[in-house]
Amino acid sequence: MRERETVASPAAARAAGAGRPPGPSLVSHVLARHGAGLDKSLERLVEPFGGWSALVTPGERVAVKINLLRAAPPEKAVTTHPETLGCVLRALKAAGAEPFVADSPGGPNGPAKVARAYKISGIADVCATEDVQIVDIEDDPAVLRAPEGRLYRSFPVGKAFLDADAVVQVGVLKTHQLMRLTGGVKLTYGVIPGLAKAHLHVKAQRRADFADMLLDLHLALQPRFTIIDGIVAMEGQGPGSGTPRDLGSLFAARDCLALDAALADRTAHERDSVHTIAASIRRGLLDPAQPYLPAGDPIEPEHDFKPVRRDMQELLPSSLHRLARNLITARPRLVDPDACIRCNECAAICPTRAIAMDPLPDYDDDACVRCYACTEVCPTAAIDAVSPLLVRLLGRRR
Ligand code: SF4
Ligand code: SF4
Repeated sequence: MRERETVASPAAARAAGAGRPPGPSLVSHVLARHGAGLDKSLERLVEPFGGWSALVTPGERVAVKINLLRAAPPEKAVTTHPETLGCVLRALKAAGAEPFVADSPGGPNGPAKVARAYKISGIADVCATEDVQIVDIEDDPAVLRAPEGRLYRSFPVGKAFLDADAVVQVGVLKTHQLMRLTGGVKLTYGVIPGLAKAHLHVKAQRRADFADMLLDLHLALQPRFTIIDGIVAMEGQGPGSGTPRDLGSLFAARDCLALDAALADRTAHERDSVHTIAASIRRGLLDPAQPYLPAGDPIEPEHDFKPVRRDMQELLPSSLHRLARNLITARPRLVDPDACIRCNECAAICPTRAIAMDPLPDYDDDACVRCYACTEVCPTAAIDAVSPLLVRLLGRRR
């Protein structure tokens, strides 16, 4: 595995205020629709940053990091929308950059599975139309050093991301069963190939630890720019099995910590209820009083946006989590046996081998670390996180 030392400590740089203007970072928001006019909306979105020519330079090779969680059609809002991606690719090329597209779906990823995810999501077609290369990162990992990491000091990542001159992220605004929302910081997780993602869950079982790990990775990789598509977002039990929600919002920022705070505001989440935002505040990287400087259309909260259901683990001190795990924490369960196509994806991704196919998935609750990776990869929403009876009786499901 090849290694790349990060030039400086991004976390230390942030803490010192180096490399960024003092005060809150700019977050751009425009109201938009897919279809005709999206190119113009993107243009307006990027305008506050000086346009694409201020973000990339001619000849730069830009890794466009998408969200390719699993094979799902665009209307499900599981993956980056191909129309939005197409607009970004055209804009990058017009600015003289040389983009390529990459990501790693969840689970074990053979070439056929990855190709299918690109095809069904519509991303293969848009890349073909725009004559942009798709780079498979599964079999070519390298080491990204994170010397200032709180939890991790290095990560296995797709080498293509390290070799690129810049990383531009294009993701979807979704709820997330562990972090509550997935925005710019969580999007970076897909630079880690396949099953390695699931194994990181084992060392970071508490939500706060997992959020710190995501921040360690994001700050080490330092994507240059991020666009989050909330034109059709996902609400409910995201990021794999939630419900598409017409929100009509596009967001962009250089600083994903600020960007994620804006996403929380738009979807009516308390900012510090989103674990990655709480970690940013805890580490002194985000000012909770004024986390961003808004540009573009006003960011109005969508009060009836459905969050993920919370479980009682979030309300208890962390010292009690392991003790009370089976009593209070939502467990993955096969909620729709008829929908199960016995594809084995859930068992294959489980980092603790807590799922046995018999012939349908059977769970070992003591081995399960509640990472919910199985619910994310299930292609038929046959699995969901189900609160234990005690919690349901107490009426604490939200
Ligand atoms: S059973 Fe599901 S939630 Fe539990 S550890 Fe395995 S993948 Fe994670
Ligand atoms: S529960 Fe979902 S992921 Fe697991 S075998 Fe069935 S269809 Fe596949």
